Amino acid sequence: SSVFAGIAQAPEDPILGVTVAYNKDPNPAKINLGVGAYRTEEGKPLVLNVVRRAEQMLINDPSRVKEYLPIVGLAEFNKLSAKLIFGADSPAIKENRVVTVQCLSGTGSLRVGGEFLARHYHERTICIPATTWGNHPKVFGLAGLTVRSYRYYDPATRGLDFKGLVEDLSSAPVGSIVLLHACAHNPTGVDPTIDQWEQIRQLMRSKSMLPFFDSAYQGFASGSLDKDAESVRMFVADGGELLMAQSYAKNMGLYGERVGALSVCGSADVAVRVESQLKLVIRPMYSSPPLHGPSIVATILKDSEMYNEWTVELKAMADRIISMRQQLFDALKSRGTPGDWSHILKQIGMFTFTGLSSEQVAFMRQEYHIYMTSDGRISMAGLSTKTVPILADAIHAAVT
Ligand code: PLP
Repeated sequence: SSVFAGIAQAPEDPILGVTVAYNKDPNPAKINLGVGAYRTEEGKPLVLNVVRRAEQMLINDPSRVKEYLPIVGLAEFNKLSAKLIFGADSPAIKENRVVTVQCLSGTGSLRVGGEFLARHYHERTICIPATTWGNHPKVFGLAGLTVRSYRYYDPATRGLDFKGLVEDLSSAPVGSIVLLHACAHNPTGVDPTIDQWEQIRQLMRSKSMLPFFDSAYQGFASGSLDKDAESVRMFVADGGELLMAQSYAKNMGLYGERVGALSVCGSADVAVRVESQLKLVIRPMYSSPPLHGPSIVATILKDSEMYNEWTVELKAMADRIISMRQQLFDALKSRGTPGDWSHILKQIGMFTFTGLSSEQVAFMRQEYHIYMTSDGRISMAGLSTKTVPILADAIHAAVT
């Protein structure tokens, strides 16, 4: 028998497991609202035209070779990524206070940032929102940080528990790292208002807390790259320090290319030393990052015409999602489905946190072949004009 005979079967990832179950369902009418990826109105994955164009340019360029990138990745990509999130005129960039390294999408950026902090930052506690992307506690726990949560989502209002958030951050250790979703909080779709962000900023700075922003949806939430970076830029503008994890999975549709960036915004005199230590985190982990994805991103970001084309395609994705919110809300209203569904309109980004219980989720899977995570999160990007009425019928049946 195998030397691995004693190994237990590991549970399926709770998010990716939804798609596994969906794929096993033979019913042709099945609907998958579990995937965190954009789908067209026809239910198909989308490669942006501007991405196809950039790839063609790269293929046609005979000077391109397949040599290794440096440990920190493509320099041009790193520069452009910092500019994209912090803003073209960011004083932090001008003052050379930002170090950026290319990482394996958002997840890799969080992991590298987490390990760097576990080695070099004096307070190992990271506070994450109570309910957050399911991978956060695992990524930071394995990176060597102590994970603790702060209240965030209020099931009663299906909105932000701002009072709870303030209380919990106030009682967390001085200097704690605080994970913040830059926009379009996953899974709740609930973001602080600008006024609340300002209060969070003041509270955190007064307690010398270190912000760690996770930006997986810049431009994908509102349709505007600048608007979705407002929270981050408030924290950069005060001159204080922060970490920033960026992903191009959603906003450029580069999911499987695994392209992202980690920035550390500190002071000019530490930047070079910080970068040297980030290299020591990365080198034994995967040596150096991939070449294709960041080359696409850099090609688009450095060319104003391609950049503009990207913003138009990005806004079209965001607008389709926003219109799905309105259509679902209207469909429930017209059915007279009991309950207040206004949170479907108020929440932002790829997901709606419906408030459906795990029993109701199971009922909808059983009776309607509609798949979502057991916490009642549905991907608005997976809906279409054709499937909204089916989902509305299912929700109506589940709650009545
Ligand atoms: N952070 C949040 C909040 C996310 O929702 C996701 C993806 O779903 C990620 C990070 C990481 O995504 P990726 O590693 O594909 O960039």
